[in-house]
Amino acid sequence: MPYVTIKIMAKILVIEDEKQISELLEYNLRQAGYFVECAFDGQDGLQKAKTIKPDLIVLDLMLPKIDGMEVCRKLKSESDTKAISIVMLTAKSEEIDRIVGLEMGADDYVTKPFSVRELVLRIKAILKRNDTVLPESKKIDLPDLLVDPEQHQVFVNGEEIILTHLEFNLLLALANANGRVLTRDLLLNKVWGYDYYGDTRTVDVHVRRLRQKLGVACDHIRTIRGTGYRFVTE
Ligand code: CA
Repeated sequence: MPYVTIKIMAKILVIEDEKQISELLEYNLRQAGYFVECAFDGQDGLQKAKTIKPDLIVLDLMLPKIDGMEVCRKLKSESDTKAISIVMLTAKSEEIDRIVGLEMGADDYVTKPFSVRELVLRIKAILKRNDTVLPESKKIDLPDLLVDPEQHQVFVNGEEIILTHLEFNLLLALANANGRVLTRDLLLNKVWGYDYYGDTRTVDVHVRRLRQKLGVACDHIRTIRGTGYRFVTE
């Protein structure tokens, strides 16, 4: 049967081998107004990610055939799938997985057992964020760094670099603070959204990734020990 999709309906792919969880997610995400497709192992998940091009993937870590971390790595390394937002499902005890997951490019994680309501809220927040650029953002025009909020483009020494929506908004929030120090909590509120319940280490991981992508221009973002981050123009 062909898929019937309405353009404004975001597509979500759930990659999870536990049928019970998968059905629960499918039901609740459909109720929330999303188009939902499910895959039950990593290989099938990767294939479906390429064919249906979802806006967001809910990715379990423990999966048959190809594990979730590897699925994430593959998705983020290919040009046609690297912009897809990823929410990881991880076991509560495995904190290291969460950090590694974020470093690999996941937008967020939820630990099992999780509240479906909370997961749906997080997904809504991510999808909403993907559609918005931080309001009142000014263009940043430095010798080595150009950030254009209108065109949604970033150039380092004339060469364009590709940032996720989250990284882009994080950079804008820092750059538009006029040299003020922004605390991790403030950044969480500003960039991740007021209804976000994440912890502040999420900020650190994303700043680290942002710096990596900025390369030679990474020194514009300074760490203020014990406080947060500050953008400097020199
Ligand atoms: Ca599993």
